[in-house]
Amino acid sequence: MAFEALKGTLERNGFTVTVCATKEEAAAYLNSQIHNTTVGMGGSMTITELGLRDSLSAHNVVFSHGYTPCDAALTQEMASTADVYLLSANAIAENTGEILNIDGRGNRVASSLYGHRKVYFLAGKNKVSPDFESALFRLRNVVAPKNAQRLKRNTPCAAKGDKCYNCNSPERICNGLVVHYKKMMGMEMEVVLIDEEVGY
Ligand code: SF4
Repeated sequence: MAFEALKGTLERNGFTVTVCATKEEAAAYLNSQIHNTTVGMGGSMTITELGLRDSLSAHNVVFSHGYTPCDAALTQEMASTADVYLLSANAIAENTGEILNIDGRGNRVASSLYGHRKVYFLAGKNKVSPDFESALFRLRNVVAPKNAQRLKRNTPCAAKGDKCYNCNSPERICNGLVVHYKKMMGMEMEVVLIDEEVGY
């Protein structure tokens, strides 16, 4: 089975884990689990590639800035109080099951820590790194530069697209790092592992 060892490691860390073979299977699974409720979403190419904003909006109320047709700050505030919150994992350390996420504003990582009935982390196989050090390297040198380019930020990594320059740009997108060693107390947390490359 794909992700067999990682699934066990994440379960020992307290997370519920679901393994899906494809993006389509993951999207169908999430639509079967999340129904008739409020859903907050962080910025995520994985969520985009799974088409979750449209599919979940058909039977839930979705708050996702850039998608929900109202002010971005207000949407983020509504997302922070939603019953369910979805985000991708920027990286997962395979040997420990630590889940790493980096953020510029902090709304996404804040919601991964507190304030919801249930949080789902989504991760394609490209998000799995051997250990914490390689996962952190991936965040700084792959994930952040690609997101900075996507968001058209005025940062050296967006201009050159090759690595992190530990910049002082006011538009820097990696201002905070959150590591989930274990599931947080007081809310359900599930990791959906997808056996395909999804997002970045
Ligand atoms: S610190 Fe600056 S250069 Fe490095 S990844 Fe973040 S935004 Fe890019």
